[in-house]
Amino acid sequence: MQHHTDNTHSNSAARAVNLQRIYGHGETEVRAVDGISIDFLDGQFTAIMGPSGSGKSTLMHCMAGLDSISSGKAYIGDTDISTLRDKEITALRRDRLGFIFQSFNLVPTLTAKENITLPLDIAGEKVNQEWFDEVVWRLGLKGRLQHRPSELSGGQQQRVACARALVSRPDIIFGDEPTGNLDSNSSAEVLSILRSAVDKDGQTVVIVTHDPKAASYADRVVFLADGRIADELAKPDVESILGVMGKLEDH
Ligand code: ADP
Ligand code: MG
Repeated sequence: MQHHTDNTHSNSAARAVNLQRIYGHGETEVRAVDGISIDFLDGQFTAIMGPSGSGKSTLMHCMAGLDSISSGKAYIGDTDISTLRDKEITALRRDRLGFIFQSFNLVPTLTAKENITLPLDIAGEKVNQEWFDEVVWRLGLKGRLQHRPSELSGGQQQRVACARALVSRPDIIFGDEPTGNLDSNSSAEVLSILRSAVDKDGQTVVIVTHDPKAASYADRVVFLADGRIADELAKPDVESILGVMGKLEDH
C-alpha cells in the first residue's frame, strides 16, 4: 500500500498557503492579499466578508486562477495552480470550477439554455440531460430556457448563471457577490440553490458577500481586513456575524 506522508489536506477543495498578491510597486504598491492561508473543505459553504478593498475579490480570483499570484501557493484539490501554464489553467477552470459573478456575465445573444450549456459546449463535452433537467427544475428555469438574458429579470439571469455553474458538476463554485445586484427574494433563491448544492450534491461553495443575511447561509464566515484574515466564525447566524463586523469596525 502506498504510504501517504501528508494527507491532512486530502479533503480540501481549494487551499491557499501564505498567498500574496501585490499590485504595482514602490510608492504605489498595494498588498491586496497580504499572506493568507486558508482551506476550503470539500462539501463546505464558506462566505468571505470584509470592508470594500480588503482583498476579497483578489483572494477569490487568485484562488480560482483568474489572477496571478505574487508569492505563496494556491491549490485546487492537489493541483498547485501557480505551476500551471495558461492553457492548463484555462482547462482547470473549465473542468473543475464554476463561477457566479455579481454582473451575471451571460452572453446576451444566447438563450438561457445555450448560456447554461456554454462551458460544456466549449469543452466539447456532452450535456448530461438528466442532470441538466434536474438543475433547470431546481432553479425554476423550465419555462425560461428559450429566453435571452434581456428578456429575463435580474433574479432569473442569476439563476441561469447558477445553472451554468452547476451543470458541469465542478469541484468548487466561486461566487463574487453573487447576490449583490439582487432584491431580497431573488437573493434568498440563489442562496438556497447554493446551499442545496452543498447539502444535496456535496458541492463546495465559496462566496464573497457584504450581506450578513447572505453570509448566514454558509457553514463558515471568514472576515478579511487589509488583505489578511481578521476573524472567522463557524455555524454563523446574522447576529453573530453582525457582532464580529461591529467588533472589527471598532478597531
Ligand atoms: P474587495 O473585493 O474586498 O473590495 P479587492 O480585492 O477588489 O477588494 O481589492 C483589494 C485592494 O487591491 C484594493 O486596494 C484595490 O484597490 C486593489 N486592487 C485590486 N485590483 C487591482 C488591480 N488590478 N490593480 C491595482 N490595484 C488593485
Ligand atoms: Mg470585490
